[in-house]
Amino acid sequence: MSVHIGEMNWQQYDAKARNGKTPIFLPLGALEQHGPHLSMNVDVLLPTKMSEFVAERIGGMVAPPLTYGYKSQVKSGGGNHLPGTTSLDGATLSSMVRDLILEFARHGARNIVMMNGHYENSMFLVEGIDLALRHLRYDGIRDLRVMGISYWDFIDKGTVSRLYPDGFNGWEVEHGGVLETSMMLYWYPNLVDMGAVDDHPPATFPPYDLYPSNPTWTPASGALSSAKNASREKGALIVKNSSDGICAAVSREFIL
Ligand code: ZN
Ligand code: MN
Repeated sequence: MSVHIGEMNWQQYDAKARNGKTPIFLPLGALEQHGPHLSMNVDVLLPTKMSEFVAERIGGMVAPPLTYGYKSQVKSGGGNHLPGTTSLDGATLSSMVRDLILEFARHGARNIVMMNGHYENSMFLVEGIDLALRHLRYDGIRDLRVMGISYWDFIDKGTVSRLYPDGFNGWEVEHGGVLETSMMLYWYPNLVDMGAVDDHPPATFPPYDLYPSNPTWTPASGALSSAKNASREKGALIVKNSSDGICAAVSREFIL
């Protein structure tokens, strides 16, 4: 049977959800430009595939992903001024997260994993989780727990040095760079055009933000670092390292 909730019939879902134990993974993404070499659904596909990979190994279910996210920021996603990037207000995202947690709780689920693929979603996710937990407390439900995961946080130092032998510039400038492009080459090679990769140095930013944003801060390609050193092999390494860590963490918190 598929781990994807949307592919189950309601009895299959109900049998797993009502026991409360089976973790439900909710992937959270964005529709956001990722440079000329990648499709705009990278932040949706990667956490969804990671959720599927982990759920198959530890016995979980994967909810349909949120395909829009919070507004792209210049220093982490190129900025919300770029064509194609299509975003939600923060309150909208928080409300959607709250509503979905409350629905899963109504079905019986008590273990929920937020698998985030778009950095800018982070605090609005936290807000949605907090609103849901507060609502459930009023209903006397205190045993629902939520894990918040950004898959790149599980990549260890040893793997980082293999991915970036010339030096690592930080996850902030990985938008459209080696990390996401390598994972896409591993899972969705038909959505990558390595011939369109722009070779430019990693973006550098002043230690402050400006609103409205200054579009000249963003490299012309829309990517914040070059993906020229991305490869399918690096994608395999990232998926292995990250998924091992996530499986261990979810098992530790939810399965045992
Ligand atoms: Zn991305
Ligand atoms: Mn993003």
